[in-house]
Amino acid sequence: LLAVEDLRKSFGSLEVLKGASFTVRPSEVIGLLGRSGSGKSTLLRCLNMLETPTGGRVLLDGEEIGFKTDPSGRRRALSGAEVARQRARMSMVFQQFNLWPHRTALGNVIEGPIQVLGVPPEQARTEGLALLDRVGLLAKADVHPIRLSGGQQQRVAIARALAMRPKIMLFDEPTSALDPELVAEVLQVMLDLAKTGTTMVVVTHEMAFARDACDTVMLLESGEIIERGPPDQVMSRPSDERARQFFGGRR
Ligand code: ATP
Ligand code: MG
Repeated sequence: LLAVEDLRKSFGSLEVLKGASFTVRPSEVIGLLGRSGSGKSTLLRCLNMLETPTGGRVLLDGEEIGFKTDPSGRRRALSGAEVARQRARMSMVFQQFNLWPHRTALGNVIEGPIQVLGVPPEQARTEGLALLDRVGLLAKADVHPIRLSGGQQQRVAIARALAMRPKIMLFDEPTSALDPELVAEVLQVMLDLAKTGTTMVVVTHEMAFARDACDTVMLLESGEIIERGPPDQVMSRPSDERARQFFGGRR
């Protein structure tokens, strides 16, 4: 579904991604782990061109994100509008949920489908309510974000991301801004998505979630993927010494 080939990113002289390659199969759930500053967010943001990579390429269903190669073999950057169209096929959920404060929970969920996908409002409403039900918030459809807890707001943000009917869901530490007692409800929703075939790449520090929900975990260290494989193997018996250190302190 997604192919990432030798992805590189530098900020000036700072090399943040040093050539990351991996693929994501349909329905696969990938956990991206690594210490602070290892480049996890940068990698995620390069997948959908929120950050322009300095090298390598990203292919979604065989179509390169951000660039087009014409028949003569010349590769050119796509326009902002074209990239935005591609980006809409990958929904991202951030640490900060960024809901629209003046819209209700349902209003937040249906805005994108109506404005961007052109879904008729009635249909968007029906689908939006089903999505809110899925994240356990049907009863809060008409409530504004300010009257929701952080965990509820993040669940609305997940419903909003799903409403765009993405091929793949990208999560960047979706629970790290939450009070500890609100983390579980959000992880439960994500676990449910994982179990029901949603393709996901999840940056997380939640080791239990990585173990339970992910098919594959990858450990990023200084911009390189130093370990990858099934969670049990990577987390319990890592081959790389730096990976052993990383997981040693987090069980
Ligand atoms: P965390 O766990 O703290 O979120 P991370 O693994 O997501 O960390 P990144 O946010 O990807 O790490 O950052 C990796 C490195 O890139 C850091 O050294 C950071 O300072 C640097 N960096 C990130 N974004 C920029 C930017 N826009 N300009 C310059 N440097 C940046
Ligand atoms: Mg980050």
